[in-house]
Amino acid sequence: MKLNVHELNRSQTIRLSSPGECIYCGDTESKLRDEHVIPYALAANTMILEKSCCETCQNIIQRYEQEVLKKQLGIFRAQVDAPSRSKKRDRITHVDVQFVEVNDGGQFMRDLGVRSIPVHELPLAVHLWQSPMPRRLRHPLTPEQEQGKPWWFADRDGIDAMCSNIREETGANYVAYKSGQVNRLHYLRSLAKNAHAFAAAQYGLDAFEPYLLDLILCRSDDVAEFVGDDPFDAPVQDANGHTLQIFLGEPMGGEEQGLITARFQLYPTLGSPAHLIVVGRAKIDIQKRLAGEI
Ligand SMILES: [Zn+2]
Repeated sequence: MKLNVHELNRSQTIRLSSPGECIYCGDTESKLRDEHVIPYALAANTMILEKSCCETCQNIIQRYEQEVLKKQLGIFRAQVDAPSRSKKRDRITHVDVQFVEVNDGGQFMRDLGVRSIPVHELPLAVHLWQSPMPRRLRHPLTPEQEQGKPWWFADRDGIDAMCSNIREETGANYVAYKSGQVNRLHYLRSLAKNAHAFAAAQYGLDAFEPYLLDLILCRSDDVAEFVGDDPFDAPVQDANGHTLQIFLGEPMGGEEQGLITARFQLYPTLGSPAHLIVVGRAKIDIQKRLAGEI
């Protein structure tokens, strides 16, 4: 599969005018709010689609999106000083870490209590999810294979040093703690939401038949059909300081011709999984739309 790629320019704020309807449910009647195409917490002000999300959809989306941004990525974001709307005094300064003693097989032996650790002393760790390609783009797999698995980056030296302090303090042989967690369904649903919003903003809602609305609005939990990873390594371009790379493209040729896909990589410099999301099927000639011809 070849991707015909457009990259989001992160150096400026782009404001796009309202499509006149909610990009998730099509509602034109109720009050529409501005939608950050990519959550503010990940990319600050990169692209805002004005008056494009109704309150009902916003409430559904916020339930899982906020959990991803706060529980899954919150500590890491605080550590790398990602953009945050919360006031200084509300920001995370300390994290309660639960330490345990484990045996040499890694099994739980006893509770060593909770310590409050300043965020800047906590070893860096980020937890994401790794999946096969979206089902639409590959041969069938077993449900277990489709599930994918957790992916994480961690500062191992930092973790060893912190655990060694606790070992000395408690006399335990092996010390462990949980550095984070991922709710697969919520995380992959968030990716679907970002991909749909990005495609709607870049191409226009009328440009494609959307595939992700049932996932975004929690009417389906079958994330594996449209959300997965790109197994092909792409070079990390100009990733210095970038927390997110997002591309939109159309596979050229083959059965996938006409599908619109988004490639979404958080923290690319860490070698994180590149998520691939099938957004929908093109209804118009995308190249002509981008050239302003239609
Ligand atoms: Zn809506």
